[in-house]
Amino acid sequence: MASQHYDLIIIGGGPAGQSAALIAGRTRMKTAFINAESPRNFVTTASHGFLTRDGAHPSELLAVAKEQLHKYPTVNYIAGKVSEVSRLAGGFSATTAQGATMTATRMLIATGHRDNLDQLDLPGIEDVYGKSVYPCPFCDGYEHSDEALAIFGHGAIEHFVPMMRIWSRDMIVFTNGNPLDAKVKAELQAKGVPVEEAGVASLRSKGGTLTHVVLDDGREIARQSGFVVEEFSSPATDFAVRLGVIANEENDWGMSELAGANGTTNIPGLYIVGDARMGFAGIAAAVSEGGFCVEMIAHEVAMERWAVLLEEPK
Ligand SMILES: Cc1cc2nc3c(=O)[nH]c(=O)nc-3n(C[C@H](O)[C@H](O)[C@H](O)COP(=O)(O)OP(=O)(O)OC[C@H]3O[C@@H](n4cnc5c(N)ncnc54)[C@H](O)[C@@H]3O)c2cc1C
Repeated sequence: MASQHYDLIIIGGGPAGQSAALIAGRTRMKTAFINAESPRNFVTTASHGFLTRDGAHPSELLAVAKEQLHKYPTVNYIAGKVSEVSRLAGGFSATTAQGATMTATRMLIATGHRDNLDQLDLPGIEDVYGKSVYPCPFCDGYEHSDEALAIFGHGAIEHFVPMMRIWSRDMIVFTNGNPLDAKVKAELQAKGVPVEEAGVASLRSKGGTLTHVVLDDGREIARQSGFVVEEFSSPATDFAVRLGVIANEENDWGMSELAGANGTTNIPGLYIVGDARMGFAGIAAAVSEGGFCVEMIAHEVAMERWAVLLEEPK
C-alpha cells in the first residue's frame, strides 16, 4: 500500500485527540487522525464535570465530535488501530493493524491509559466499575452524595478520606490485606472512619450497584458505592517509549509525566497529550491540552513556512 504524507499524525481520538483534530482542521493542517474508538471511560454510565455536557455518556461526546469534524477537509479520519510507529529522518510514520502506512513531519500521541482492574485484586469489581465504584471522586462523587461509601486502598488515604467528606461522612476504608500506617489509622478512627484491614473476598452487587463488601473472614459489610484510591492504570500504548521519550518527574499524583504541560517531549516534533501524558487528565483538561498543543504546532508550522517564503515559487 502506498504511504501518504501529512503535516501531522494524531493517534487516539478521545477528548484529547478529538480536540487536537478539531484545531488541526481549523488551522488547515493536512492531518491523519487514527482512532481505535475504545476509550477507558466507555464503561461508565455518564461522564460529569464537562461544561455543557454534564451527565452525557462518553459515546455521545465522541459522536458529536466526529460529526463536527466532517466539515474540515484537511483531516483524514481513520477508524482503526495503529500497531507500529517509527522515527524517520525529519518525521514519523504510523502503520495501522489493517496495513495502511502514513508519514508526517509531526506526531501527536493521545492514546490514553488502560485500566488494569486485575491489579486491584477485588473480585467482582468488573461488575461495578464505572457504575457504582469509580476511580475519580470529582467525576462521580456528587452522584453518590451521602451514601455509604467504601474507600478501597491504603496509599495516600490521609489525603483521600478528608476530601471524600465533601460528598459523604459515611465511609469505611478497606485496605484489602495491606496494613495501614498506624498513625494514619488512629487518626481515621478517631475522626469516625472505620478501617478494615482484612482481605476483600468479593464485591457483591445488583445490576451494577455495589451492595456489600465481603471480607476474607466472612463478614459482609453493606455499602452503596465506592472509590478506589490506588493507581491501577498504565499507558494504553508504548509508542512514546518506543519512539524514545524520556519521562519527566512524577506529578503530584505519583504518576510520571511523559511530556510537559503543553505536550512537548524530548523528541522534536513528537507530542503527547491527555491521559497518555499524565495518567488521568479528566475530559476538560484533555480537551484543553489537545487543542492548545495543536495551536502551538500550527504556530511552529506557520513560522517555518514564513521563514522560507521568499524561496517558494509564486
Ligand atoms: C470509569 C471512568 C470514569 C470517568 N469519568 C469521568 C468523568 O465523569 N469526567 C471526566 O472529566 N473524566 C472522567 N474520566 C476520565 C476521562 O475519561 C479521561 O481523563 C479522558 O477520557 C482522557 O482523554 P484522552 O483523550 O486522553 O484518552 P481516552 O479518552 O482514553 O482516549 C484515548 C483514545 O485513543 C484510542 N487508542 C488507544 N490506542 C490506540 C491505537 N493503538 N491506535 C488508535 N487509537 C488508539 C482509544 O481507542 C481511545 O479512543 C473517567 C475515567 C474512567 C476510567
